[in-house]
Parts: sequence; C-alpha cells; structure tokens
Amino acid sequence: MTRRAPCPVIAIVGAGFSGTMVATHLLREARSPLRVVLIERAETAGVGIAYREQSDRHLLNVRAEGMSAFPDQPGHFLRWLADYRGDDALVNPSAFVPRRLYGQYLRDVLATAADQAQRDVRLEIVHGEVTGCTAGQARTTLRLASGSTIEADRVVLAIGNPGPADPPVDDRQFFSSPKYQSHAWSMQGLISLRRDDAVLLVGSGLTTLDWIASLAERGHRGAIHVVSRRGLLPRVHQPAARHVLGFDPAQAAPNVRALMRLIRAEVADVIAGGGDWRSVMDALRPHGQTLWQRLPRPEQLRFLRHARTWWDIHRHRAAPRNLETVQRLIDQGQLQLLAARPVAFVERGDAVDVHLRPRGRADIVIRSVQRVVNCTGPDSNYRRLNHPLLNTLREQGLASVDDIGLGLLTDASGRLLQRDGAPSPTLFTVGPPRKGELWETTAVPEIRQQAQALARELLVMPDSLRNEAGDARSVASGLGLTPA
Ligand SMILES: Cc1cc2nc3c(=O)[nH]c(=O)nc-3n(C[C@H](O)[C@H](O)[C@H](O)COP(=O)(O)OP(=O)(O)OC[C@H]3O[C@@H](n4cnc5c(N)ncnc54)[C@H](O)[C@@H]3O)c2cc1C
Repeated sequence: MTRRAPCPVIAIVGAGFSGTMVATHLLREARSPLRVVLIERAETAGVGIAYREQSDRHLLNVRAEGMSAFPDQPGHFLRWLADYRGDDALVNPSAFVPRRLYGQYLRDVLATAADQAQRDVRLEIVHGEVTGCTAGQARTTLRLASGSTIEADRVVLAIGNPGPADPPVDDRQFFSSPKYQSHAWSMQGLISLRRDDAVLLVGSGLTTLDWIASLAERGHRGAIHVVSRRGLLPRVHQPAARHVLGFDPAQAAPNVRALMRLIRAEVADVIAGGGDWRSVMDALRPHGQTLWQRLPRPEQLRFLRHARTWWDIHRHRAAPRNLETVQRLIDQGQLQLLAARPVAFVERGDAVDVHLRPRGRADIVIRSVQRVVNCTGPDSNYRRLNHPLLNTLREQGLASVDDIGLGLLTDASGRLLQRDGAPSPTLFTVGPPRKGELWETTAVPEIRQQAQALARELLVMPDSLRNEAGDARSVASGLGLTPA
C-alpha cells in the first residue's frame, strides 16, 4: 500500500532523542500545513536506546540541570521534574536521575508539541523498521519491513548509534551461543541468568556500569569479570568550579600531542590552584567539535589510537552511585577488573572458557563463566555495519561514509553528501551518524542544538541550498514551508 501525502511530509526515521527533538521543533515552529511522520522500529517511540523503561539504577550520566531538551530553556527538564514529583524541593539540579524518567519527559515534550501545534501541523507515529529508500530530486519513498511505503518531501535519518561489534576472535561460532549476549543495551539476558552464574562483561565503560548496577540490584552472587583493553573505568562525576580555558582551542596547534600537552599543563595549573581536573574537561566540551574538525585526518586517527580511551573516561563520567557499587563489589572480592582482550571463546558444558591475553603480556589466562555480555559500546566502523536502510542508501550512492568510517558524510546542516559529493536535496541526518564530522554529537547537550537547527533548516530553505539542489526552489514553495 502506498500512502500519498495530502500535504508536505517530513519523515523522520528513528524516534530516540534526536528524532523526537527534530519532530518536536517542527511541530512547534511550522506555520503552514505539514505532516511530520516519525517512524520507530522499537515498541515505544520517543525514548530511543538510552531512555526506555528500565531499572531505576540506570542513571543519566549528566546532572539533571544539564538535560533540558531545549537549548534556549535550560531549566525545562528541572521544571518538568518538579511538576512530575509535585514538589520543587524534591528536585535536586545536581542529581543523576533515572534514565527511565528522562524517557517519560521526552514523550511528554513530544505530546505537548503535537497538542499545541498549529491546526494543520500534524504528527503521525508509525511503528516499523525502514529497510529501503528511493530518493528523487523532490520526493523520497521509504520502504518498511512490513511492505508498506511512505512518501516524503524530506527525510531525516535519526537512527542513533550502531550496535557493538563482536570481539575480534578467529572462531566466531560462540557468537551464536545462548551464553553470549551481543547487545548489552538490552537487559533481557538477565532474566535467564542464575544468581550464582559467573559473568564476563567485555568493555568497562558506562554500559558495563549499568550491567553491574542491575546485577547488584538482583542480588547476584556469582563472579563478575570485567575485561577491557586498558582495564580503565569511567571517572566519577564531582562538582567542579567553572573554569575559563587559558588557551584558545580555535588557535591551538592541530596536533594531538601538542593538544594533550596543553590540556595536561592546564590541568596541572588548576590543581596547583586547589581546583579539579574536571573543570578543564568541562571547559573543553563546548570546543570539542572545533578541536576535532581542526585536526587533519592522520591526527584524528592518532587521537583514536592513542588518546581516545583517556578522553572517554574523563569526558564521559559516571554517577557516583554507580562507581560506589563497583568499588563495593571489588572490595567484597566478587568483581575483578582486568586489562586484557579476549582471544578465544571455548564452550564446555554449561560454561564457556574465555581465553584472555592480559595487556602487555604474551601468556593467556582463562576465565570460566556461564555468560559473556558484550558491553563495548557502539561499533566505530560504519563500513561493516549491517543496517538495511544504510546499505541501500550507500548502494544507490545516496549516502557515503567518511574515510575513517565513524559516520556519514554531511554538509554543515546535516544534509547527506551523496557518492558524487553533492548534497542530497531531500535526505538529512542528525546526532551520532555525524560523529566522523563532529566527534561530539552523541549526547543531549550537543544533539539538542543540532535538532533545533535542523528543524529550522527543514522549514526554511536558504537560497544557497535551493540553488545547489536544482529544482529545490519549486520544491520549497511546493512544500509551503517558506515564509510568505
Ligand atoms: C545506554 C546509554 C545511556 C546514555 N545516557 C546518556 C545520558 O545520560 N546523557 C546524555 O546526554 N546522553 C546519554 N547517552 C547518549 C545518547 O546516545 C544520546 O543522549 C541520545 O539518546 C541519542 O539519541 P538518538 O536518537 O540519536 O539515538 P537512539 O537513542 O539510538 O535512537 C535511535 C532510534 O532509531 C531507531 N531506528 C534505527 N534504525 C531504524 C530504522 N531503520 N527504522 C526505524 N527505526 C530505526 C532505533 O530503534 C532507535 O530507537 C546514552 C546512550 C546510551 C546508549
């Protein structure tokens, strides 16, 4: 069945934070008829991977005061929390609140925008997976796994982060075993886990901390082995004074080693003055995109090889409560953290022997466990992704991957660059798929700004883009979205 649009249609594929916020801004700001179609393959639209229904132990890793969905209303989430809890006094701006609550907030934000939209501006939520796409100069046809199609004048890919890659071992047979969970973002595997089972978590980032929190919540008694290349955990959040950088990131040498020296010197100064290194990391954050974009490709690769883990553990910090749990389990001897990488998985009865090569050593140690969970976070290589929609876009030359493989190539507004380098007249993306271009584009503080800017771009076509897109002037006036 093909549904033909009675009025201009903007389709958004993916209803996580990125897609939900692009839809919200379109609904709030459109001043002429518009149909916003938000398509989500998961059961609940509006929450994405991070903020769906889950344990209250899974906390935001940004303080409540930093999580407003709107860049120009910093207190919006705090006000929502106060209304939700019915008492301002219960809302602590510095708290790390359950992510589940944030999902509820996002659904409310979207519902309110839909309710308050102009009469001819409508939201339609479609459940299903978009698996294919055919784009013309003016209209795009999206194909869903169910066989139905949706025609749209503009399409936004808000498809989030890729799933994790399996650990690189020669024999991949184990990855189809029920003892292996490839996707740690689902806690489904906990249901069949027995209390005394030994578990091995691959990776030691924020997702690992979620798993540890859930195991602790269930009173798990079995051994917990945490294994990652460097064996480093995220650093803890602590209050840190506001700091003004002593150097201008836009003028700093575009060289990783020089940048690291500058940052270390700045941290040493701050600590010598009685301050905290976190002040420097927080002051760097608004400049993350500039710093990344100024690095030539070989330097970006150097950063990924040598500095990324260091950057990640300081930049993506954890709520204190989560690290307290880890420390308690270490102290009790239940949790072991090891700097090592898995080299083989050998199934043996109800267990699997995980062969590990400890960092800097040639020998192998073996951990025998009942379950292995891959907590390594998003795959950072778009080239090997198996995402049906992206596959068809790339096959048709409608999208291309940056040469490091971190994401999709886009122009400054998020318009996809086609294989020939021309900006697409109809296809856009937002959030994590822009990582290759922006680096800092995976968390709320960056995405909320991008989502607002993209919605405005979709509603008003600047002259330069109309010219580049050939017949886009007639498309734009046909959309009825340009101001009179
Ligand atoms: C576990 C976790 C915790 C996090 N915690 C925080 C935090 O506390 N603070 C913070 O600022 N950031 C956090 N982040 C970062 C997070 O990535 C961003 O905040 C934001 O949620 C990203 O939203 P998104 O919509 O781009 O991606 P996602 O949340 O991944 O949403 C993408 C959506 O697209 C859907 N989709 C994909 N392909 C298709 C298709 N073909 N058809 C239909 N639907 C499709 C997916 O089902 C998914 O719902 C966290 C991330 C994770 C994974």
